[in-house]
This record gives sequence, C-alpha cells and structure tokens, in this order.
Amino acid sequence: MTDVLTPEQRRLNMSRIRGRDTTPEMLIRRGLHARGLRYKLQDRSLPGRPDLVFSTPRAVILVHGCFWHGHECPRFRLPATRPEFWAEKILATKTRDQRSHEALRAMGWRILTVWECSLDGPARWPADLLLDTCAGFIRGNECTLQISGRWDQSVEG
Ligand SMILES: [Zn+2]
Repeated sequence: MTDVLTPEQRRLNMSRIRGRDTTPEMLIRRGLHARGLRYKLQDRSLPGRPDLVFSTPRAVILVHGCFWHGHECPRFRLPATRPEFWAEKILATKTRDQRSHEALRAMGWRILTVWECSLDGPARWPADLLLDTCAGFIRGNECTLQISGRWDQSVEG
C-alpha cells in the first residue's frame, strides 16, 4: 500500500476504522454521561447516522475527524501523493455532511459538531470546558454550534 497519509492522518484513519470507541469520542461520551445526559449511539434512522443522539432535547452531536471531513484548520493537509484523489473524496464527504445537516435541521434536530482538533492535539480544549460547552448546548436552545480547536491559543497554531 502506498504511503499517502501523514502519520497523523493514518492514526486518525485507523481510529475511525476501529469504529465507535475512539478515544476522543469516548471523552465526550463519558463526560456527558457524568453530567447527567443520556444518549443513543449512531442512530441509523437519522440522516448521516449522528454519533450521539439526545432524543428529548432533540439534539445530536457529530464528532468529525479534521482530515476526512475537510476541516479548515492546520490539522487538515492534503497528502502530497494523489492530492486530487483525496480532494475529491473529501469533497464528497463534505457534500454528504451538508445534506445530512440540512435534513436533520429540517426534522427539527439541533446539531453540535465537534471537530477532532478540539479534542486531541495541540489545539485541544481543556476537557472540562469542552464538556461543559457540549452539555450547555444540549440543554440550551441554540440550533447549531461548531466546536473547533483553539488554534489561536496553541503553540503550534
Ligand atoms: Zn480541525
């Protein structure tokens, strides 16, 4: 297999392939459970199969990897090999994400998108602040919120 991913991207890739129990997502699941919130995982009946579904406050959390979902952050970099292949693949994911987002909104779901750079790496949030922000969104009434890494405050940003 050709080495087209940076070690970081490969690691993220593997963590997504391993499935739902990736460390960053577990941080959110444990933290929100500890804050008294109960959820369903990856509800297949909903567009885009959201990672966490909070039925009564009608809110979902999407945990997005910066590479695969094309986050505009320093963590996203197209591989030097076959960049057009990856650009196309990632654009397809982004288009799918946008459709799911619109469908969920049309069904009245509130959507919190948590980018992996806020959970992991140099720009990650302090865990308690991140979890309090997530819990605040679930219990609040904002329609959408995106949480990205704090690149402005990170050393490498
Ligand atoms: Zn990011």
